[in-house]
Amino acid sequence: MTGEISFRYDAIRGTNIADLRSLGKPLLLFKTLFKKKPPSPARHELLKIDGRMLEVRVHLNPRARRMIVKVNPATGEVSVTAPSRRGLAHALDFARGEKAWIAGQLAKAPGPVALAAGAIVPFKGESHEIRAADRGPAPVWRDEGVIWVRGRAAHAPRRVLDFLKNEARKTFEARVLEHASALGVKPSRITVRDTASRWGSCSSGRSLSFSWRLILAPDFVLDYVVAHEVAHLREMNHSPRFWAHVKSLVPDLDAPQRWLKVNGRELQRYAAGPA
Ligand SMILES: [Zn+2]
Repeated sequence: MTGEISFRYDAIRGTNIADLRSLGKPLLLFKTLFKKKPPSPARHELLKIDGRMLEVRVHLNPRARRMIVKVNPATGEVSVTAPSRRGLAHALDFARGEKAWIAGQLAKAPGPVALAAGAIVPFKGESHEIRAADRGPAPVWRDEGVIWVRGRAAHAPRRVLDFLKNEARKTFEARVLEHASALGVKPSRITVRDTASRWGSCSSGRSLSFSWRLILAPDFVLDYVVAHEVAHLREMNHSPRFWAHVKSLVPDLDAPQRWLKVNGRELQRYAAGPA
């Protein structure tokens, strides 16, 4: 165990990876799934479910204790984790055996939303429509419930994504600055990531990282995650002293935690490309 403490333990319960299935039973193996070591490169296989071909991501994670199939409840992405190279060969068979369960999960998944013209995306908790513009002050800009994007339609999703990440970065920097000065701490750096397993993290090297998707959530949610990670610069644990620091920065912890639990998953649907 390194000094890294991440927000993922708080966020995981109701947010991102919700439906795990292993050998027919729901499984709580978060620690196994989210160990620091990155899993080996995934490969994609095709599985026929309900008459259509479905792409399944298969990857090896030696730290997993058994075969695990997951359906991302927001995007409908299906993946299988095999604990060994030998298991890798049987991963697809395993998924095939869970077809009915996978189909059931897919039926519930609303599917991904491409960041293209016509899409509705939340920005700081408020719905915005993405619209194409012939001309304007920037490649992408926001104005009264609309995110305008210039240029070729094919480039729009990437441009909108860059815009959202940039807005996220600016907001994180401003909020970190304020909370860090209140606690008398200084992070070494701030990075913006696209991780599915956590909203934010704080490393022992004092580096903070956040998911850009928090810019889609209302301010009080983003602010809570920032406060949480900044407070780790004082306490690298989840002790009462740690929570006292968080509370001194954001008095209400319940509302943002509840919001993430209920809506966090939904934020995963927004993507630049087809899932
Ligand atoms: Zn934490």
